Amino acid sequence: MLEKLLDGVEKNRELISAAYNRIWKNPETGYREWKTNEYLKNEYEKLGYELTMAGNIPGFITEIDTGRPGPTVAVFGEMDALICATHPDADPATGAVHACGHCAQSAALLGLAAALKEPGVLDGMSGKIRLIAVPAEELIEIEYRQKLYDEGIIRYFGGKQEFIYRGLLDGADMAIMIHNSTAWPKGTGRVNLGSNGCMIKTIVFHGKASHAGGSPHRGRNALYAATQALTAINAIRETFRDEDHIRVHGIITQGGDVANTIPDRVVMEFYVRGANGDAIKAANEAVNRAVSGAAVSLGCTVTIDDRHGYFPRIHDRGMMEAAREGMELALEHVLYIPEGWTYGCSDFGDITSIMPGVHPHIGGSRGTVHGSTYFIDDPAGVCTDSAKAQAGILWVLLKDGAERALRIKEDFTPVFATRDEYLKFIDDATAVREAVSYLDDGSILIK
Ligand SMILES: [Zn+2]
Ligand SMILES: [Zn+2]
Repeated sequence: MLEKLLDGVEKNRELISAAYNRIWKNPETGYREWKTNEYLKNEYEKLGYELTMAGNIPGFITEIDTGRPGPTVAVFGEMDALICATHPDADPATGAVHACGHCAQSAALLGLAAALKEPGVLDGMSGKIRLIAVPAEELIEIEYRQKLYDEGIIRYFGGKQEFIYRGLLDGADMAIMIHNSTAWPKGTGRVNLGSNGCMIKTIVFHGKASHAGGSPHRGRNALYAATQALTAINAIRETFRDEDHIRVHGIITQGGDVANTIPDRVVMEFYVRGANGDAIKAANEAVNRAVSGAAVSLGCTVTIDDRHGYFPRIHDRGMMEAAREGMELALEHVLYIPEGWTYGCSDFGDITSIMPGVHPHIGGSRGTVHGSTYFIDDPAGVCTDSAKAQAGILWVLLKDGAERALRIKEDFTPVFATRDEYLKFIDDATAVREAVSYLDDGSILIK
């Protein structure tokens, strides 16, 4: 019964608060969430859950069965922090901090897990609920993830992608998660249509090192090639159409070794974001032309490593309606913006490409997301709201013989019919190319 479930969440407010504080104080970036994993594992086991661990990466899944047949609803709680070394609560050694509020997701999911173990709460629901502690949503530290990939530890950079690959989403019929937001006050939920997807790029300019004072004419300056590339990329921005919501942005992660040598290797990490796959692809090609041309202008070469980032997150309409109704049962205010779009990206987009999903937001955070002013003032209250909102959505989906969830499942047409099709698409989207070649006859070949 929903009432018992909401009471169950309320009863576990202390547990939720302790989990929030613990994870806030121990921030870990993606695929490094081992302390968080260990803590949550113990807490779930204390509640009597049997866990399936992801294994050589942090994270796990567990399931609770209502005892009546029906679909399986996956509920995610992300575990990873990001890096913002200027945040007052950043880990002094790593710069990691929960400036996206994922610690609140983990705390809320634990509170929901505790509530689901209270007597009588599953009465009136059918099907199963799969709780998922998932790593690595923030698409950062690309070099570190490449290293994990090269070592055979991960195959995909996003935690949800990796969980799909590992079969941890097999048998799940639909998915929900609730992310925190600074846009609204505590007690307010928001359901919209979705958000951008992205590609990620590692761009390496290769030049020629030489003495910067004595013989700069013998060098080829890879740093200047990179700065030319930034200028050229900025020049193509006016060609992006408003409706495609293209965002192109990045950083230089290596800009040379010593100041008295012409830099011969400069590395940039870039994102190309957009509202649909075709627009992202077109913008990415334009960026690649800009980068290649910039390399040629300085006589450098360039290696462009393109890879699928995240799919656009497109919520299922039926799930959006269920989320609105469920959140209205649990929160003071719910904003329903059926065409609303946001411009960040999430690997929940990949989830929505294979099953119906919805990823609402909940208010009560303040400051700048990903910035040094991000805080949640009343974490126990905000996380309790979030757990209750999830309980409300589960109730709407699974009550009355899970009639609503069954209808949503029936009506859904996935982008990819199978897990393998989805994985093949990602694999095929990965391309490493040497974009510029200088031929013996003096001509220059741009790929
Ligand atoms: Zn986030
Ligand atoms: Zn974030």
